[in-house]
Amino acid sequence: MAWYGEARRSLLVMAAIGTAMLGSGVAEAKPTAQKARAATQGQINVVYNRVRSPLAKDFQTVFQKSRLFETAVAPINQNILLPRDLTVELGECGFVNAFYEPGAHRIVMCYELIDHLTKVFRKSGMGQRDAEVQALNAAVFTFYHELAHMLIHEMDLPIVGKEEDVADQFSALLLSNAGDGGKGAILAAAQWFGSSQSPESREKYMDEHSLNEQRAYYLICLLHAQSPGELSGLVKRLGFPPERLQKCKDEYRQIARSWEMMITPFLRR
Ligand SMILES: [Zn+2]
Repeated sequence: MAWYGEARRSLLVMAAIGTAMLGSGVAEAKPTAQKARAATQGQINVVYNRVRSPLAKDFQTVFQKSRLFETAVAPINQNILLPRDLTVELGECGFVNAFYEPGAHRIVMCYELIDHLTKVFRKSGMGQRDAEVQALNAAVFTFYHELAHMLIHEMDLPIVGKEEDVADQFSALLLSNAGDGGKGAILAAAQWFGSSQSPESREKYMDEHSLNEQRAYYLICLLHAQSPGELSGLVKRLGFPPERLQKCKDEYRQIARSWEMMITPFLRR
């Protein structure tokens, strides 16, 4: 586990996220007062499930020591009125996934996913250490994607559009404002989606997720809107049309404003 040091550095990134969207001087979004009043003093708690395999034990140690996920949820706990206590569970699942379970009011992050991501990046030609760091970055993106699902359901937020796209947008919005580490997490996710082409099948087109290729390009689109200078070389290499990049900027502003309007009534004051 070469990435322990890297995980510690990511803590700073997470701490920066708090100032990214929440309390960013959002103008006067009109409070949807009932909902805000109904909200209580809930907290998101991070829980470590019992693990058996040596690999899972290694991951457990890394996350417990670095407190990466505790730091990731801290800005949410500090800034948002949550209607109840919620849980982020880390552990061994027996399968590769990360998911939000509405009935249990929990997000589950499976160590198998992070192991899988490491293999994905290894396959793309990265060395072990770089692949581990990149896997951690992609896992951070995934975590905020799942957090979006959680907030949407627990806070009964009005979503217009495919929820899976909205979750990607939320994660990209937060992380694009969280310094180089946050931007790295978005790029890692884009690389992951870009390297796992969706099979051309009817089932895939019917899926609740957009195609992996679309998710990859969309993340680049949103990140470019926030950091055009840093991404200029990449979007050029990828062949993004200039008209699309302009639309990306408009969409980014629209998404940011919409989230601000939704979240503002729930901000702790
Ligand atoms: Zn999702």
